[in-house]
Amino acid sequence: ILSVQKVTKTFVSGDHKLTVLDTISFNVEKGTTCAIVGPSGSGKTTLLGLCAGLDRPTSGRVVLNGQPISNMKEDELNSVRNEQIGFVFQSFQLISTLTALENVMVPVELRGVPYREVEQKAKELLAQVGLKERLHHYPNQLSGGEQQRVGLARAFIHKPDILFADEPTGNLDSETGEQIEDLLFDLNRESGTTLIIVTHDRELAEKCDRIIELKSGEIFRDTQPGESEPEFASEETVNAEIKPA
Ligand code: ATP
Repeated sequence: ILSVQKVTKTFVSGDHKLTVLDTISFNVEKGTTCAIVGPSGSGKTTLLGLCAGLDRPTSGRVVLNGQPISNMKEDELNSVRNEQIGFVFQSFQLISTLTALENVMVPVELRGVPYREVEQKAKELLAQVGLKERLHHYPNQLSGGEQQRVGLARAFIHKPDILFADEPTGNLDSETGEQIEDLLFDLNRESGTTLIIVTHDRELAEKCDRIIELKSGEIFRDTQPGESEPEFASEETVNAEIKPA
């Protein structure tokens, strides 16, 4: 469903150049779950943004469902984002002046779908994430976990083919975080939505079908948990591998 082809991203400020991603390539199969991990500053969020069409690579291509989104015109890209892509943020990013129900409705309402239809769908989704009794609450009247449930419902209202989540449990305590994880994996199982999750949480990463580990802007390791290779290299293994015999 997703093909990242020799993607490089360089940020330029003044005469200072920073190559955050260096010739990254990988493919993700439809319906699978994939974690992107790596140290702080290794380029995870940048990579996710490029895959979701929120930003464009300096060179290389991102192809989603056979369409080269990295080269598309802005209006074409907008419609791909609105129809095929969902995004969940660490900081929830809800609109503070809208209720939970209204926040979930926004993306589809903008596309001109009849109000009643959108409202019905949003109510169903909010019930699915356990917020049936919170439809008319504003974000500041909801706990962090509840806000992230609203974020999930909003990301799913248009039934995206692929959902990108940037540290979706990063601002939540571990119990609440696990509930959000369960919801994400339920949505993957029930709707076949492909999940790409940036996370620092090893337990969450190991629940995914695949873990891509970034280091200094390159893919350092690409594993499928359950395979014989260790999912995460300890410092010792890394050093042992690069030391001459
Ligand atoms: P973390 O785990 O801390 O969130 P990350 O792996 O997600 O880190 P990124 O947020 O992708 O890392 O950032 C990678 C590097 O790119 C960082 O050094 C960051 O300062 C730099 N960077 C990101 N966005 C920009 C930008 N718009 N302009 C300049 N530099 C940027």
